[in-house]
Amino acid sequence: MDEITLTRPDDWHLHVRDGALTQAVAGYSAAVFGRAIIMPNLKPPVTDVAAARAYRDRIRGVIDDASGFEPLMTLYLTDDTTPVTIAEAAACGFIQGIKLYPAGATTNSDAGVTDLARCHDALAAMAEHGLPLLVHGEVTAPDVDVFDREAAFLEERLAPLLERHPSLRVVLEHVTTARATEFVRHGPSRLAATITAHHLLLNRNDMLVGGIRPHHYCLPVLKRERDRAALLEAATSGNPKFFLGTDSAPHPRGAKVADCGCAGVFSAATAMPAYAEAFEAAGALDRLEGFASHFGPDFYGLARNTDSLTLRRHPWSVPNALPAGDDVLVPLRAGEEMAWQTVVGPQAGG
Ligand SMILES: [Zn+2]
Repeated sequence: MDEITLTRPDDWHLHVRDGALTQAVAGYSAAVFGRAIIMPNLKPPVTDVAAARAYRDRIRGVIDDASGFEPLMTLYLTDDTTPVTIAEAAACGFIQGIKLYPAGATTNSDAGVTDLARCHDALAAMAEHGLPLLVHGEVTAPDVDVFDREAAFLEERLAPLLERHPSLRVVLEHVTTARATEFVRHGPSRLAATITAHHLLLNRNDMLVGGIRPHHYCLPVLKRERDRAALLEAATSGNPKFFLGTDSAPHPRGAKVADCGCAGVFSAATAMPAYAEAFEAAGALDRLEGFASHFGPDFYGLARNTDSLTLRRHPWSVPNALPAGDDVLVPLRAGEEMAWQTVVGPQAGG
């Protein structure tokens, strides 16, 4: 197979940041994906409908209208989010989820939830209005090892949350462990998970052996090879509970390569070639369309895209860096050859 045409995919977990960085990155996603769930962890975070509307306008302002790209907005859950805010979000028509960051879990999460017990009214309102909860699933207690934080979250936080809110739909974002795939697989049908391209392709050796690779550092952090294998198995299984979310999280190179480097892999520019590489390695290219284009909208209760995207086998060299204002961004697979290429510009009406 040298060419695959898919229903145009969507990205169910994306960071496009703000200001000049948005201008540098949003076009990469808009050229490929029909829609993307936009993360709300700006400074200050996006916590109400007015802020989400303004952020959506800023994103739309820097992308080509002809792309047809639609940013799907989210609100950032805090200890103070009220049921009224949730009702307004559900009614506005452009907010598709509410994001839970445990306080301190990752980039700009200081305003996150300190104790889920403070959020039960907001969570009940989300269940009532059909807005899914999107979860960064890591505990943040300082005594829990960074490699164990996702696994600890599943039993300590997520299981009781699902039990307490029996009709709340939940997306466990960017799963990184075999245990998380098991938890989702055996959980209720209202529980799904996104999987990044880099967690399908890399394990923690790729970050730490032969020198530290700061551009492979992300949160949740890369895990063992057996975890990567389990993620690939889940993504290529055809199980609709697992779908595409790049978690492309750009930081300028100067912020990644530093005494205290930021977490995040910038994958928007190479995402579909990277997913195709992972699926091909598993002998499952025929399952890529379900994962990338069908299961996400089905879970969110949205229509599948009606246009298409073509990937062609045509080896190409990924640039070492891409421009971003006065700095640069280092994309996933920078300086390496990739086998698959996105044919630029989605084809209409496919
Ligand atoms: Zn993220």
